[in-house]
This record gives sequence, structure tokens and C-alpha cells, in this order.
Amino acid sequence: MSEALISIRSRIAAASLAAGRPADAVQLVAVSKLQPWDHIAPVFDGGQRVFGENRVQEAKERWAQHRGQIELRLIGPLQTNKARDAVAFFDVIETLDREKLARVLADEIQAQGKAPRLYVQVNTGEEPQKAGIIPAEADAFVAACRETYGLNVEGLMCIPPADEDPAPHFRMLADIAARNGVAKLSMGMSDDFEVAVACGATSVRVGSALFGSR
Ligand SMILES: *Cc1c(COP(=O)(O)O)cnc(C)c1O
Repeated sequence: MSEALISIRSRIAAASLAAGRPADAVQLVAVSKLQPWDHIAPVFDGGQRVFGENRVQEAKERWAQHRGQIELRLIGPLQTNKARDAVAFFDVIETLDREKLARVLADEIQAQGKAPRLYVQVNTGEEPQKAGIIPAEADAFVAACRETYGLNVEGLMCIPPADEDPAPHFRMLADIAARNGVAKLSMGMSDDFEVAVACGATSVRVGSALFGSR
């Protein structure tokens, strides 16, 4: 059983209560990318069943044996040539960020008769090296996902710039979600998940604080 899992769960619950939200308002997504199984096993054995991965192929290798027991979320950039595998393997894709990908995902969902839940990634800091739709285009992009491609946008996701106060970025994401009628917010990582909970996160993506450094 993982001490880190107990600690992170209690910090999420405390941050939720402090924000006037129910203790169980926020889901923990355990980010297992690049971790060896002996780091993951205590967290899995502790009952954690929602995991995040950055890469399709790596996720398939790591989780093939336990796939039926967990919810798996893709949180890294998705190339269109991996969309078929991603739709087949993941329960949630958090990195929908461009029209071409929306079109390919819509086609794959139709072809496979299986629809992962989808989050639109927003590049709130407008960082050139980072994926995500820029904030000024987010409303139109969410509308296009829904109306042009028939996709159900469950949530929004962001990764704030590493060197900035994350709170304004989290609040911006919450505003975009509210005005577009999007229910879920994936925001907050090891260093800032309590801030994200205060700003309305419905899930936080925690890696190194749970499993150790990568
Ligand atoms: C790696 C990663 C995380 C986890 O980061 P930590 O700082 O280790 O908690 C969360 N979200 C995304 C998109 C990531 O790539």
C-alpha cells in the first residue's frame, strides 16, 4: 500500500472541503508514464483505478495485462496516425486540440462503434512548444467539435506554463468551460493540484508526487 497515495488523496479531499466542495468532488488521475511497475504496483494495490499515460504505444505495453481493471486516460499529444489505436485502447482522450484530429477521431469512433470520452486541450499560456487550442479559438473549436464532427466534449484540459502562477490559467479554463457548457476540468499536477482544486478542477493529474521522479 502506497503512503503517497494515502497522502495525495487526503490532500485532494482537504483542498476540496476548503473550497466548499464535497470531499469526493475531484478524481485523482495517477500519471504512470515512464514509471517501472514496481513503482506503480503499490498504488494499484492501494485501489487506484484511474491512470494517465502520455503515449499510446507505451500505455499499451504497460497496461495490457490490467487493461480491464482500470480507466485509462491519454494526456499526451495525439498524432492522427495513432488515432485508431487511441480510440481502441483509451477510455478518455484529453488532448483533442485541432480540427484534423477531431475529424479523424469522429471517423474512428464511427468505424469502431466505441467512443472514448473527450477533453479539449487549451494552451492557456499560448506557448509555442505546447499543444492545445489557443484561448481565443476555444469557443469556436468546441462548437465545431460538437456541430461539425458530432463529438461529445466532456471536459477541458490545460497545462499552465511552468514558470507562472497557475491560478489565472486554471480560472481561464474554468471560464471557457462555463460559457461553453462543458462540465469537466482536468487541471493540476504534482506541484499545483491543490490550487487547481480551489479553481474548480474535477480531476487532477498527479505523477511524480505519487510514484517518485521519472
Ligand atoms: C507528466 C504529466 C503530468 C504529471 O506531472 P507530475 O508533475 O509528475 O505530477 C500531468 N499532466 C500531463 C499532461 C503530463 O504530461
